[in-house]
Amino acid sequence: MGTVVSINGELFDPKSARVSVFDRGFLYGDSVYEVLRTVGGEPRWLDEHLERLARSAEGIGMVLPRSPVEIARLVHAAVRAAANEDCYIRIIVTRGGGDIDLDPAKAIDPVAIVIAKPLRLPPEDLYRRGADIVIVAVRRNLRQAVDPNVKSGNYLNNILALAEARRSGAYEAVMCDREGLVAEGSTSNIFAVRAMTVCTPPLETGILDGITRGKVLALCAHERIPVREQPLSPDDLRSAHEVFLTASIRGVLPIRSVDGRAVGEGCPGALTARLMSLYADQMASG
Ligand code: PMP
Repeated sequence: MGTVVSINGELFDPKSARVSVFDRGFLYGDSVYEVLRTVGGEPRWLDEHLERLARSAEGIGMVLPRSPVEIARLVHAAVRAAANEDCYIRIIVTRGGGDIDLDPAKAIDPVAIVIAKPLRLPPEDLYRRGADIVIVAVRRNLRQAVDPNVKSGNYLNNILALAEARRSGAYEAVMCDREGLVAEGSTSNIFAVRAMTVCTPPLETGILDGITRGKVLALCAHERIPVREQPLSPDDLRSAHEVFLTASIRGVLPIRSVDGRAVGEGCPGALTARLMSLYADQMASG
């Protein structure tokens, strides 16, 4: 039981797992990645995560060194070897190494890594009382720069955003786009309930096409809960009746305050609580 690291299919314990200091993932964040979890030992929505990994690679002109089927095999092998009740899984593919040279055409020996470690969820009481978020000054990348819809290892922007939030004691940072409209969290998508409608910024804002975001939108459609993918201003978020965020490891997490202002009348709000329960059911059943 514990943490297992697969590097190009070879299994290591965390202490002996090594990549080259010339690896472009290390040098430049020139990598793509996915994070998912198992449920009952089975990687949940692995195919969707592998599809997004392939899209991310394509988005930065990286050729994946292995097919999705092969990467799935690596994931299953790492999960089996880790032998945890449930695992946090991180899949990382770097463009590889070579001489120190920014030119991606010079990259050789791409590396595919899978980390499987015990799943640690946020504490239960965070789901009962809700998390505090702040809208930070750090802006989300332009789609014309490192496209936020590419899940790359280049996370410095998000790190700076989260650091800003943590300095003010908040749990998560919300970044805005260049126009000042709400984009997403440092590692989450963001939702607001306004006038009984579940609202979330559209993908065109320049955000990650979150797997959990997609599941929540599909659940809303199935349950006939009104949904709008629409631009949200910081004031729309601050004055929402309910706010929640989504991410693969955290699921649906209610927000109790935005910029220090309490959200709605008690946390979690009714629609958020319903979506938390619907999502948990879907997570359990696949
Ligand atoms: N946005 C960003 C920037 C993220 O890092 C994450 C976490 N992967 C998400 C959104 C949520 O995506 P998912 O639901 O696929 O985990």
